[in-house]
Amino acid sequence: MEKSSVEIFDENYSRVLEKIASAAARAGRKSEDVTLLAATKTVPVEVINHAIRSGIKYIGENRVQEFLSKEQELLPVHRHFIGHLQTNKVKDIVGRVELIHSVDSYHLAKEISKQAVKRGTVCDILVEINVGQEESKFGFSPENAAESIAEAASLEGICLRGLMAIPPVCDDFSKNIKFFEQLYKLFIDIKAQKIDNSNINILSMGMSDDFECAVECGATMVRLGTALFGRRNYNI
Ligand SMILES: *Cc1c(COP(=O)(O)O)cnc(C)c1O
Repeated sequence: MEKSSVEIFDENYSRVLEKIASAAARAGRKSEDVTLLAATKTVPVEVINHAIRSGIKYIGENRVQEFLSKEQELLPVHRHFIGHLQTNKVKDIVGRVELIHSVDSYHLAKEISKQAVKRGTVCDILVEINVGQEESKFGFSPENAAESIAEAASLEGICLRGLMAIPPVCDDFSKNIKFFEQLYKLFIDIKAQKIDNSNINILSMGMSDDFECAVECGATMVRLGTALFGRRNYNI
């Protein structure tokens, strides 16, 4: 008989926690310093709630519509938005999630600021860095990142909490490390800038194929989908 989604999760979850703990130990870090976020796109809400009951404290959704359709039924959990966000959907997300990981342009930051101010709230954001400088991906270029990040952070209603990235898929492990190291360095540099409206302590990098490497390179948050829930039927 095929395994159920819940059984798959149960098997994977403890293994993932062990892997995070050993990667942290290898880098002389504590496993508590790494937050596991479950990337829940395409995962049915019953399975997500099972994961929450099992100990998952952070979830991230990719699509506004999907998030809104699951939102009401979710058990209490820290809710993050991790997908590309269109400006016209910002109004549906601000105030409903704790952190937006994927702020990939100044234009988007401006709209988040506008909506946050309108609601009298402050929205925590991460700035997405296009670390591989890939045309197909969104995000700030690493070259002038420091400058543009400070500019985005200066907007009212926004609190900059750190950086997020989806590095290119690498066949070669050493290339992967290079991207993660570059991100870590940028994270440290930006933290040292003491930007107004910021409280920078989140470096969101590492997915199912590379999270151990990301943890060794200083990630404070890893976003895992497949490693927890098994293969998705389709990719988003
Ligand atoms: C889907 C997704 C993940 C998780 O991907 P896996 O490879 O399944 O772990 C992480 N971050 C973002 C932004 C995603 O869209």
